[in-house]
Amino acid sequence: MPHTPFVGRTRIAYFSMEIALRPEIHSYAGGLGVLAGDTVRSCAELELPVVFVTLASRAGYFRQTIDAEGRQGEQPDWWQPADWCRPLGAMTAVMIEERPVWVRPWLYLHEAPHGHAVPVLLLDTDLEQNDPADREITHSLYGDGNDYRLKQEIVLGLGGIRILRALDFEIRTYHLNEGHAALLTLELLNRSRIEPEDRIAGEPSYDVAEVRRRCVFTTHTPVEAGHDRFPYALFQRMLPDFVEIDTLKALAGAEQLNMTRLAFSLSGYVNGVARRHAETTQHLFPGYRVHAVTNGVHAGTWAHPAFAALFDAQIPQWQHEPEVLVRALQLGKDEIWRCHLAAKAELAERVQAISGTALDPDLPILGFARRMTGYKRPLLLFSDLDRLAQIAAERPFQLVLAGKAHPRDDSGKAAIQRIHQVIRQLDGKLRCVFLPDYDMALARILVSGCDVWLNTPQPPLEASGTSGMKAALNGVLNLSVLDGWWIEACVDGVNGWAIGTDGSTGTGTSDGDHAAALYALLEKTVLPLWHDDPAQWRRMMRQAIGSIAYYFNSQRMMRRYATEAYLR
Ligand SMILES: *Cc1c(COP(=O)(O)O)cnc(C)c1O
Repeated sequence: MPHTPFVGRTRIAYFSMEIALRPEIHSYAGGLGVLAGDTVRSCAELELPVVFVTLASRAGYFRQTIDAEGRQGEQPDWWQPADWCRPLGAMTAVMIEERPVWVRPWLYLHEAPHGHAVPVLLLDTDLEQNDPADREITHSLYGDGNDYRLKQEIVLGLGGIRILRALDFEIRTYHLNEGHAALLTLELLNRSRIEPEDRIAGEPSYDVAEVRRRCVFTTHTPVEAGHDRFPYALFQRMLPDFVEIDTLKALAGAEQLNMTRLAFSLSGYVNGVARRHAETTQHLFPGYRVHAVTNGVHAGTWAHPAFAALFDAQIPQWQHEPEVLVRALQLGKDEIWRCHLAAKAELAERVQAISGTALDPDLPILGFARRMTGYKRPLLLFSDLDRLAQIAAERPFQLVLAGKAHPRDDSGKAAIQRIHQVIRQLDGKLRCVFLPDYDMALARILVSGCDVWLNTPQPPLEASGTSGMKAALNGVLNLSVLDGWWIEACVDGVNGWAIGTDGSTGTGTSDGDHAAALYALLEKTVLPLWHDDPAQWRRMMRQAIGSIAYYFNSQRMMRRYATEAYLR
């Protein structure tokens, strides 16, 4: 078998419903998948003994189109695993509704620049052996309906753990990236079963402590809708007699099977993805200890080639050891500006090619690209169009927007439609474009080519956020509400700006407060600085790189997981 070399040394299995391996592989939707992809890339660079498990998601999340009325359209976004992966001979079956569903892995090898590779297994049920309906289980990422979602999670959790065993991996630690893979804990629970003849009367029939020793759980959202819940009736229909139902209810909630609660109950190490997020999660799940490992981004992936060349020349080692980017503080500010102009020109070119709109390279570009959903408040910037137009009349700037709404998120879709209306209303006053089909490739161009990266979530709902870290790595200044990672990174007026105050007191974070603070900052601080004091702007760009990129990277993140979560 071609994969044998790493089978022997691998001790950790990282499970994630989505992983962004490369733009051509559509097995991701957004931030969670990009983070998992950056995790793969850092593990390869650090030579950590990790194998990754995800779904093939042959039809991707969806390809976004926007019609003349600004309505989002969703098309399947097919990719061919055979173009990038090799099929492995091993197969396993999981019984779903008392019917075997066969699962086969594709192997993708991610190779670090120095040649070390880590394996990624993409699970596929699109096999001749399966019923036509079961062949579709691994087609659409986050596809429609509870039944479909639970089947996907059965394939990921149970199929994944069994495929690892079929391939002879000896896994010591399972890392659950979000609750989607939590069913794997039940397979471990079953394996830990104490046989009736060995059981002491009144003692539990499973070795829960053993399962907890082996599981690490990272939760990613304090938003209720982000936590999967299934009716027990559905679970029992899909997996009859899989575990004792009373035991399951004790672990995963009395009313519904809550995947987050299940993962909490059976993981010995649980963490949130930023300090504030860990605190918020601790309140949601009292009685468990919640650690904080703040997210990071993979520097080598997210630095624009112009910046990568500058870092290569002046701060060698930055890819393997991004901590050295602290020395960006000694880069020439005009060299930083030269790299920035290269990134900005690429963005302008791409915008022209996609939308036909010509951006002016001599004016600042504000970027906002995120999942279009309520708590991200994509419309906050547009709360007062007259005020916005007046600010732009005084000191002109331009706006570039992008983002997908989940197909069932009607308010997210309405926001996209409203943005398109607003773009027409602002015509002639503020140049503004919306780029369809936000993905990893577009993100790369956006996070490096803008001047200012805007973020307006409703605290404390942004668990971490990572696109702002990518922006800062490229000297782009963050203008963001204090939530998630930005609470830890922001030195106001030095490496970016804080919109409003830290929401910890619970006041001053209404939409109105934040909109007022945002407009005031744009009008009095951000735009005057860009237009009137280019030297200071460039100093701030340098400070952003030097005081953010050295810490908010996925190498530091993975070193922490390795020492604090995996080596318990
Ligand atoms: C980085 C990234 C995200 C995450 O951005 P947030 O700041 O967390 O909103 C989402 N989608 C893509 C394509 C990305 O590259």
